[in-house]
Amino acid sequence: MSPEPAVRLRPFPFRAALAICSDIDGCDLPTFLAVHRYLNDPRSGLGLPVADSFFGQGRDPGQMAYFLPDGRTPGPEAHHIIQALRGGIIDSLHSWGDFNLAAPQPQALRSLAARLVEDLHRQGLSVKVWLNHGDPCNRQNLRARLQPGYAGDDPASPYYTADLLKPLGLKYYWWSDLVSWPLSNRPDSPGSRLRPGINALKNTVKILLGQRQKARTTAQIMELCQPVTLRDGLALMAFTRHLRGLKEPTSRHTLRYTLGDPVLEQLLAQEGYLILYTHLGLPRPGPGEELFPLPDRTALDRLAQHYHAGSIWVAPTVRVLSHWLMTRHLVWTAHREGERLIIHLESLQDPTTGPRPPEPEELAGLCFSVPAAGEVILRLAGRDLVPQVFGPDHTGERVVGLPPPPPPSLEALKL
Ligand SMILES: [Zn+2]
Repeated sequence: MSPEPAVRLRPFPFRAALAICSDIDGCDLPTFLAVHRYLNDPRSGLGLPVADSFFGQGRDPGQMAYFLPDGRTPGPEAHHIIQALRGGIIDSLHSWGDFNLAAPQPQALRSLAARLVEDLHRQGLSVKVWLNHGDPCNRQNLRARLQPGYAGDDPASPYYTADLLKPLGLKYYWWSDLVSWPLSNRPDSPGSRLRPGINALKNTVKILLGQRQKARTTAQIMELCQPVTLRDGLALMAFTRHLRGLKEPTSRHTLRYTLGDPVLEQLLAQEGYLILYTHLGLPRPGPGEELFPLPDRTALDRLAQHYHAGSIWVAPTVRVLSHWLMTRHLVWTAHREGERLIIHLESLQDPTTGPRPPEPEELAGLCFSVPAAGEVILRLAGRDLVPQVFGPDHTGERVVGLPPPPPPSLEALKL
């Protein structure tokens, strides 16, 4: 048995990774279905693996929410939400509810959150991703740098509901932070020296203005994801989303900017990650109105070309985050057994749970650069997995690994 220096864990089988991470604000079921038919369907649409989010409680009639605005009665969309969670077309909860303009009543908030968690549990479903967004009335939201009123994780607040996040199965939360550049894998990437310097200057200004709580660390502007401890002690992974030029509102009709060629080119040059902040249900289409205007369709077509050509990996938010966690925190070793190269997947040093075996779905898309010839085996908990050969990558290296996750299925929605 001898160690094998020529083996390298790769970030992904593609050159870069992208998730379209959509807040469900203002979206009704017909728009949701039409958008995902267009984006996801491999035959009549673009075949892009894009997932979406849902609210626990809605504000407007027809909004994609599990409960009606009374916070108790499952709405007509509840069944579709369950099916979409099952098929992976929904992977994120846009908090317990949409409380823009009027804060929730604390007791009603708690019973709505408890009921939602219970209903999902009964269906054998969990939700790993939380989108922490909304106006300051959304007191149920979790700690966020620029929103001092969010109190869902503060045990001293009447809005405290974060004790229900573990039973929900939550692991990742968007902590309301945005950056306008793709996040790299490589410490030597363009911008990796410049941006921390600019950020330090901005922080100095914030501190001088008495806004120390608004300052950001280098990791906050350079890393896709990082461990945080909420005010009640719950450990979660917080992630950052991307918005080019920080243009709001970000919608289906601004994809021409947020996913335009300059963004995709920069992402490829960084060989990095991008989780796009958008609202795919906005604006709500009027009768006979086009869902995607031509410039936005063109941007999506280009993204689909990159995806189908194997250069940009497009996947639901939860898949990109799980994959990031794996490539950053997997402990592995490589050695020879006779002619065979054995890559031993030892454990995942998960910052929120401590060392644990990786879940099978987290291993999807895991890949290694290996020597040009010879048999390779991935070994997990004494089991040998025969990896797929992804072929030489754009630099000519031989890449082997486990197949990427299957795309979310529209079938579950019985379209
Ligand atoms: Zn939102």
